[in-house]
Amino acid sequence: MSQYPPTPSPGDAHPASAAAGAGAAAGSRLDRWVGTYARRTASMTASEIRALFAVANRPEVVSLAGGMPYLPALPLDALADLTARLVAEKGAVALQYGSGQGEERLREQIVEVMRPQGIEAHPDDVVVTTGSQQALDLVSRVFLDPGDVVLAEAPSYVGALGVFRSYQAQVEHVPLDHDGLQPAALEEALTRLARAGKRVKFLYTVPNHHNPAGVTLSLGRRHEVLAIARRHGLLVLEDDPYALLGFDGDPLPALRSMDADHVVHLGSFSKTFAPGYRVGWAVAPHAVRDKLVLASESAILCPTSFGQFAIAEYLSCHDWLGQVKVFRELYRERRDALLAALSAHLPHATWTHPRGGFYVWLTLPEGLDSGAMLPRAVTGRVAYVPGRAFYADGTGQRFLRLSYCFPTAERITEGVRRLAGVVRDELEV
Ligand code: PMP
Repeated sequence: MSQYPPTPSPGDAHPASAAAGAGAAAGSRLDRWVGTYARRTASMTASEIRALFAVANRPEVVSLAGGMPYLPALPLDALADLTARLVAEKGAVALQYGSGQGEERLREQIVEVMRPQGIEAHPDDVVVTTGSQQALDLVSRVFLDPGDVVLAEAPSYVGALGVFRSYQAQVEHVPLDHDGLQPAALEEALTRLARAGKRVKFLYTVPNHHNPAGVTLSLGRRHEVLAIARRHGLLVLEDDPYALLGFDGDPLPALRSMDADHVVHLGSFSKTFAPGYRVGWAVAPHAVRDKLVLASESAILCPTSFGQFAIAEYLSCHDWLGQVKVFRELYRERRDALLAALSAHLPHATWTHPRGGFYVWLTLPEGLDSGAMLPRAVTGRVAYVPGRAFYADGTGQRFLRLSYCFPTAERITEGVRRLAGVVRDELEV
C-alpha cells in the first residue's frame, strides 16, 4: 500500500510529462508516479516531429519539416468580421455545449464537401471530431485491444502510428509504391497473419497525396483493395485530409464511395481551411457511428461548438472552394520549386512526385541515415523529418520527408541547396 506513490527522492523537480512514459522514467526516480502509470503510457513517446519544431522554427533554418498549411493565404480580415458577428448574433448558442455527434447544419455541409469524391452520405452518418486526429483516436478506442494488429502503409502518418501504439496495437506494415498501397502485399499480409492466428482489426490508409510518401492510390488499386477487404472481412480506415488539394483536376472516388459497409472515412478542415478550429469528421457504418459518438462523448462531451459554428458560417458565406483553389495554386508552385531544386542539386537521391498535398518522400543514397544526418542538417540551417518516424518497426533510415506547404519557393530552393551540401558532406565522410 505505502508503495504508491513511491517516496520522492530529493532530486524530484516536477512530474515528468506523460509523453516521457513510465518506461523512460523507470529507475530515474525523477518521477514520483512512475509506478502508477497504466501500461499503455509506456508506449506514448514524443514524436520526432515535435522534438524538431523548436529548432526548425528558428528563423535562420529553412524548415522543410512541418506540415503546416500556409494560413497567411486565408482572408483573415473577413474571418475576423465573421467571428465578431458570430459572437454578437449567435454567441449564446455558439458558445454553449452542443450535440456529441456535432452540429446538424455543419454535418449537412460536410455531406456536400464530400460530394466531389463521390461519397453519398446522410448527415446522420457524420460524426464531427476534434480534427481527424481525434477520429483516429476514437476508431482505435472502439476497435483495438492490446495486441490487436493494425495494417498500415510503410511509411505511415506518424500521428496515426502514435495513436495505434497508445492502444498497444501491433502495427504491421504493407509496402506502397508510386501508385500507393500494394494490393498483393496486403493480401499476403492478411494470409500470413491469419495463419499466425493474429486478429487484424483494420487497415489504415491515406489514399490521396499520402503523408509522408506524397503518392496517391490509383483507381484500379482502390477496387483491388476493397475486393480484398470484402474477401477477408476487413475494415478499412480511410484517412483523407488532402483529397481536395490535388493539382490535376478532380479527386479520385473515395474508398468510402465505392464501399460504404467496409470503410470508415475521415475528413478534416485542417488543410482546406485552418487547423486551429480543430474540426474534422468521420463517416461510418451506422453501428460503428453509434460507438464513435459514445466514445467521443465520454472523451470530450461534444466537439467545439464555436469552431463548428464558425466553419458553418465560413462555408455558407464565403467562396470556400475558391479559397481551396488559392491554396492548391500556392502549393503547386511550391511543389514545382521543390522538385526543380531536387533535380538541380541532388543527383544521388530519388524522390516521389506528388500530384497534390504537402509532401515529397526522398530516398537518400545507399548508406546514408537521415536520422544521424539531421543534427548536421540543422547546423547547415535546413530541417526535414527523418524517415524512421513513419515506421513502427524502427526502419526507414534511408528516407526523409520534405514538406513544401509553408516556405516560399525561394526558401524551398535555398533549403534544398543547403540539404544537398549536407548530403555531399555525408558522402565524402
Ligand atoms: N491524418 C493525416 C494523414 C494528417 O496528415 C494529419 C495532419 N498532419 C491528420 C490526420 C490530423 O489532422 P487534423 O487533426 O488537424 O485534422
